[in-house]
Amino acid sequence: MRIDKLLSNLGIGTRSKIKKMIKQKQIKINGELVKNGKDQLEPDTAQVTIDGHPIATQLTKYFMLNKPQNVITATKDATQRTVLDLIAPEDIVKGLAPVGRLDKDTTGLLLLTNDGQLAHQLLAPHKHVAKTYQATLDGIATGDTVTRFNAGIQLKNGTLCKPAALKIISTSEKDDQSIVEVTITEGKYHQIKRMFAACELHVATLTRISMGPLKLDSTLKQGQYRPLTNNELQQLT
Ligand code: URA
Repeated sequence: MRIDKLLSNLGIGTRSKIKKMIKQKQIKINGELVKNGKDQLEPDTAQVTIDGHPIATQLTKYFMLNKPQNVITATKDATQRTVLDLIAPEDIVKGLAPVGRLDKDTTGLLLLTNDGQLAHQLLAPHKHVAKTYQATLDGIATGDTVTRFNAGIQLKNGTLCKPAALKIISTSEKDDQSIVEVTITEGKYHQIKRMFAACELHVATLTRISMGPLKLDSTLKQGQYRPLTNNELQQLT
């Protein structure tokens, strides 16, 4: 692939800006100065630097982020920190965006990619991709709560949700709290919080632990991310 085409596809700049950068001897491929925009490279293996700084040249990127609280699921915002602010500059490529949305106070698994087709597949309502969350509830989840989730919760505004799996992990009568795992196959706004609210239970903390076949890597601390492994990517596509 031509270096000028690759760099403009990666969002580094327009072809004319890249031409200027080449003229100013800013770009190297595998340590060799690029003299012409037509110079060829292999995007998956070449080492490209701009002013000595390595840049990521793979055209499609897939990252698993353990989203922390107080960061919004957006690509940019005038005042608030976004999940893209957690990604190192060398990993940012044109079109990199979160797949779906987690609330500002929700933590856990968030996939980021510039592969629009995959994002669409994972979010398309008819695909029913399962998403599992662990929640700490203020109040006690009972067998009746499980039955209601399994049957399909009716939200307070009347909206009917699809049947959802609910597993009670632990309950503390003393603290008046339950820890649960819930799996949904839809993506309504604030869905988990609203489903529990319909059962008069408040979600104190919410963490996404899986999305389809993808499981949150327990070695990732909140705010950390890593590329998907080939195996994870194969399972997703
Ligand atoms: N459901 C919610 O209520 N919040 C999230 O962030 C995700 C699912």
